[in-house]
Amino acid sequence: MFQKILIANRGEIAVRIIRACRELGIRTVAVYSEADREALHAQLADEAICIGPAPAADSYLDMERIISACIAVKADAIHPGFGFLSENSKFARMCRKCHITFIGPSPEIIDRMGNKSEARNTMSKAGVPVVPGTKEPVKDVQTARHFAREIGYPVMIKASSGGGGKGMRIAESDLDFAENFQMAQMESMRGFGDDTMYIEKYVKDPKHIEFQIIADKFGNVVQLGERDCSIQRNHQKVIEESPCAILNEKLRKEMGETAVRAAKAAHYENAGTIEFLLDKDRNYYFIEMNTRIQVEHPVTEMVSGVDLIKEQIYVAAGMPLSVTQEDIRLNGHAIECRINAENPEKNFMPCPGTIGQVHLPGGFGVRVDTAVYSGYEIPPYYDSMIAKVIVHDRTRAGAIHKMRSTLGELILEGITTNVDFQYEILNNRDFCAGDFDTSFIEKNMGSR
Ligand code: ADP
Repeated sequence: MFQKILIANRGEIAVRIIRACRELGIRTVAVYSEADREALHAQLADEAICIGPAPAADSYLDMERIISACIAVKADAIHPGFGFLSENSKFARMCRKCHITFIGPSPEIIDRMGNKSEARNTMSKAGVPVVPGTKEPVKDVQTARHFAREIGYPVMIKASSGGGGKGMRIAESDLDFAENFQMAQMESMRGFGDDTMYIEKYVKDPKHIEFQIIADKFGNVVQLGERDCSIQRNHQKVIEESPCAILNEKLRKEMGETAVRAAKAAHYENAGTIEFLLDKDRNYYFIEMNTRIQVEHPVTEMVSGVDLIKEQIYVAAGMPLSVTQEDIRLNGHAIECRINAENPEKNFMPCPGTIGQVHLPGGFGVRVDTAVYSGYEIPPYYDSMIAKVIVHDRTRAGAIHKMRSTLGELILEGITTNVDFQYEILNNRDFCAGDFDTSFIEKNMGSR
């Protein structure tokens, strides 16, 4: 087992990883930027190293500095969390070269799955249904439009290297195709330095259903059920839950087995997520695989009782998974609300600032993953998500009630957050009935 792990991340996920390491008796090293001197992760870790100025490019994304820090403190492994370098194969390769274990899949797998167009082909070959679309990446607008016509409008234009909802545009017809293609391509160039695109059929009002899997070096792959992440704004998740309210056992089993097949086809190792779209006729299609731990992993932990971060560490250390598929019993219902420092009344503009008094809710079946504390100053340089509130109850209705009362107890003085926006969703009749898809926010809260 590792003696010491460096956590190449910040905020609540860094704190989450530190806690898992501590339980396993592993020493932890935090890295922090100059803007994060007072951050909780830097305080909680056994050691903390400043790796540079506030902008992420000069600190949390600076591979050389992070590797140097790791060598200097003699850490055996790096946990990248999510975002930042978590899906960067170059970084995973640098780790390997320096004899540091990257807690995640190999760089080869990151490459294979990180290129979304290539991932679709791998999945298609393994018999996993993919959204109808182009098999080869495209760069020029004429060829792309030709494919769009063949697929049939509306289509989704996507960047092969895209992520986080960037580099993605819908085209309704030939008329708006060129404009959307160019915008998506430009966004992709700017964000990911890659102009290769692919075209997919636009699935109308689907549910976003994803399966959590975890795999070890011995070929064991276990799936831990699904998450319904259909409550999204600008293709970004806002609320996640497990299980999905409308899946029947037969479809759940089939999709779960498909997810395992997908992971095996990719020769996958460590934690990963297979994302599907589920249409109104209950057809499901693979859209992408995320090769990292995800923001919403706690809902799976709550229903499965499996600590995903610990499993990531076990399998990265070359140990077998501590659970088999037969051990997995999914219990009750879990919901997560992402709490962001943003103003829903002003187009969700980020609202960093200093938090006054903080009161975090607690109680039976309540979990808060956060790195905030009373007097904490949220730096303006990073993501606006400052907490995740997760509840678990025997039933979905019970979990919704619990989430409402839990959010009622949360106090974050002095800053603007999306908590009221979350309430509105939790009080919506269709949400409560489980009758919603990825267009829910746009349709129900479009007036903002
Ligand atoms: P990213 O990697 O940027 O998050 P994804 O491919 O995972 O992009 O898609 C994010 C979201 O965009 C999905 O959850 C869904 O809401 C929407 N989406 C993606 N592809 C399609 C599609 N072909 N049809 C309809 N909606 C889509």
